Amino acid sequence: MVNKICIIGVGLIGGSLALALKKTGFCQTVIGAGRNQHRLEQALSLGVIDECELDYAKAVADADLVFISVPLGAMEEVFEKIRPGLKSHTIVTDGGSAKHSVIEAASEKLGVQLGQFVPGHPIAGTEKSGVEAAFDSLYQNRKVILTPLEDNTPESVKLVEHMWQSAGAEVEIMGARHHDLVLAGTSHMPHVLAYGLVDCLNNAEDVEEIFDFAAGGFRDFTRIASSDPVMWRDICLANGDAILAMMHKYQETLDTLKQAIAQEDGEQLETLFKRAKAARDKFCM
Ligand code: NAP
Repeated sequence: MVNKICIIGVGLIGGSLALALKKTGFCQTVIGAGRNQHRLEQALSLGVIDECELDYAKAVADADLVFISVPLGAMEEVFEKIRPGLKSHTIVTDGGSAKHSVIEAASEKLGVQLGQFVPGHPIAGTEKSGVEAAFDSLYQNRKVILTPLEDNTPESVKLVEHMWQSAGAEVEIMGARHHDLVLAGTSHMPHVLAYGLVDCLNNAEDVEEIFDFAAGGFRDFTRIASSDPVMWRDICLANGDAILAMMHKYQETLDTLKQAIAQEDGEQLETLFKRAKAARDKFCM
């Protein structure tokens, strides 16, 4: 149990963690920090945080644990701003969706205090954003990946692990590069594809009619295209190499499908669809 947690960026991810940790009693007080007083007051009135602060260095000064949940493009600035207030016993972690870029930003801005930073990523979320979308069960039975640094002490990793377990999550440890490759395929690519498909259809002449007849499959496939564009812009920029490699592979599969359709090769289509169905049925039970 810790006394005070500071959440920087009290949106869906940070707000849900605050609610979960308050509910389980993991911490006594949650201080929320952000760039906008009105939004922080909204988090206060929703009971997500107990105190708020616009000055990040002040916000982290009395905290035992700091969780950063701002878009990836804002991480570097946050590390820079917290450093003057960071005590030597305070552990910092984050929820950013790509890990290599966040580690680079932390190395640059935290300097000798880098060992206090334990990178992490909850594999949980929705297409909604903002504190009003936060809920305390978001992390129940979900996975969280930690990508610890060589400079981390085992105690600091344990503390972050314990925090996530208190929120109901299961923690896995992985290298940052490996994390970024895996997530490029399972999370980042699906978002790129969903945004791409909706935009492609939206540019068609008979767009109204297309969307009028959109059924369950379209809704299932494109739900995530309602996610925050800034967050996904940052993820694509932060994990570009891995996403491009995955897009290249996917393009090859699309070419195979295109060819099979053009050649009316039903056998090849059925074989590919059967193989994909078996894989999905196995992994998404
Ligand atoms: P969110 O609901 O939009 O919350 C983002 C928070 O960051 C808000 O409090 C926002 O403040 C603040 N913020 C935005 N831009 C900022 C800036 N330039 N400087 C300082 N603060 C800024 O987003 P989220 O879904 O919680 O995502 C937060 C992090 O979690 C991201 O790094 C994302 O990659 C990661 N993540 C997201 C998901 C998901 O499915 N959503 C899943 C796993 C990890 P305002 O209220 O002032 O806008």
